[in-house]
Amino acid sequence: MKLKFCGATRTVTGSCYYIDTGDFKFLVDCGAFQGKDEVDMLNYEPFPFDPSQLDVVFLTHAHFDHSGRIPILVKQGFKGRIIGTQPTRDLAKIVLLDAARLQQEEYERWLARSKDTQKGKNLSEEGSLFEQRKPLFSESDVEDMFQLFDIYPYGSSVSVNKNVEFRMRDAGHILGSAILEFWIKTAEGRDRKLVFSGDIGQPGARIVRDPDMIREADYVICEATYGNRLHKSKDETVLEFLSIIKQAQEEKANILIPSFAIERTQEILYELNLFVENKILENLEVYLDSPMASKATEVFKQFPTFYDEDARRLLEKGDDPFHFPGLVAVDSAEESKRLISKQGVVIIAGSGMCTGGRIVHHIKNNIEKENTHMIFVGYQVEGTLGRKIVDREPEVRVMGQPLQVRAKVHTLGGFSAHGDQRDLRYWLRSFGHSPKKIFVVHADEEIAIGFGTNIKAELGVEVDIPKLNEEFELK
Ligand SMILES: [Zn+2]
Repeated sequence: MKLKFCGATRTVTGSCYYIDTGDFKFLVDCGAFQGKDEVDMLNYEPFPFDPSQLDVVFLTHAHFDHSGRIPILVKQGFKGRIIGTQPTRDLAKIVLLDAARLQQEEYERWLARSKDTQKGKNLSEEGSLFEQRKPLFSESDVEDMFQLFDIYPYGSSVSVNKNVEFRMRDAGHILGSAILEFWIKTAEGRDRKLVFSGDIGQPGARIVRDPDMIREADYVICEATYGNRLHKSKDETVLEFLSIIKQAQEEKANILIPSFAIERTQEILYELNLFVENKILENLEVYLDSPMASKATEVFKQFPTFYDEDARRLLEKGDDPFHFPGLVAVDSAEESKRLISKQGVVIIAGSGMCTGGRIVHHIKNNIEKENTHMIFVGYQVEGTLGRKIVDREPEVRVMGQPLQVRAKVHTLGGFSAHGDQRDLRYWLRSFGHSPKKIFVVHADEEIAIGFGTNIKAELGVEVDIPKLNEEFELK
């Protein structure tokens, strides 16, 4: 049996793992690369396998760095099935339709710009696909992809082939996120168990449940996004969040929260809902300036069976945990522009790493003001505008303009949808000494190596930090 690492190797994005058992070929995730240009460019490279020969793509969760290249697979002849949970299907559709639209808009802007600079010379025939930023897929490619989607619940073992059985378990990362267990009969007639962690959540998250523990495996493919960090506790994080909002209210300052549309936004709304409905905060004006996050919130409301107990109870008491007085969902671009005149408000907008979307306009209008608070609640990939601000670069380029960072910048890691070093080690410990090898993926190189060294010492098992397109024969 072959296992090939086609993404998220010594980097956080582009999750994609190819498994060939001899008579069955499948992928776990097929996500987009995100970050600096040279990373982004990888999305235009051919796949290191033949998409038309794949039987199944298992999707651990809806995030773009796990789902973003599936429409390309379909364009290139993939005709098998895509397997995930129901929330994963519905959320991935929102994510991918939004990405298709953004890519098209970006491409049209590029065409207009290149015509300007070349005095009417049409550049669309020249340059690499990447230089042109040609859309990787269209909305109709996304629609085609969802014709192939099959949903399965957590916890049931399903045979997809006479030699391959799988089971999805709750990864506690975002709604519907899964850990994947595979039982595979190899050509030599041996049973081997592979476990893909997907993205492992932080225990104690408000909406999703804690990650399931898995008892044993021959091979574990484990993420390590925060393999070098310890998050502050949820309680501390919530108190810090509250004190920033109170300070901003006194100063009549704006708060900008760049937020991922899925899970993080709902977690933030959930906390704000508790602050307002328990009268801890008064006269709070919150603008959710992200139609995509509003759509994702609607999906969340449809699947309370995926919530943990507290969130479900709130819902049963008749409280909508994602809505409170003072919250306005902004829909049109015109309404969004009108927010420029607002002072003393909270604006939640995407994209989560400030690489595009409406947050960029709000950053442009607010970042040079000393009485602006920017609160980062999620991971910022190297090379993104969000990362530059988090790293306190004194000057950043926003929409081509150099701007001074005068805003107060806060990072609240406790809201992260990823477990920290302690959580990941705890999760891996449940495997005991059973794994023959643990592969560390989905982390920056230094972090992956450091985390690998730690768990090797702790668990006494073999650890590997695979490189891009490295292939392993699993005996
Ligand atoms: Zn994720």
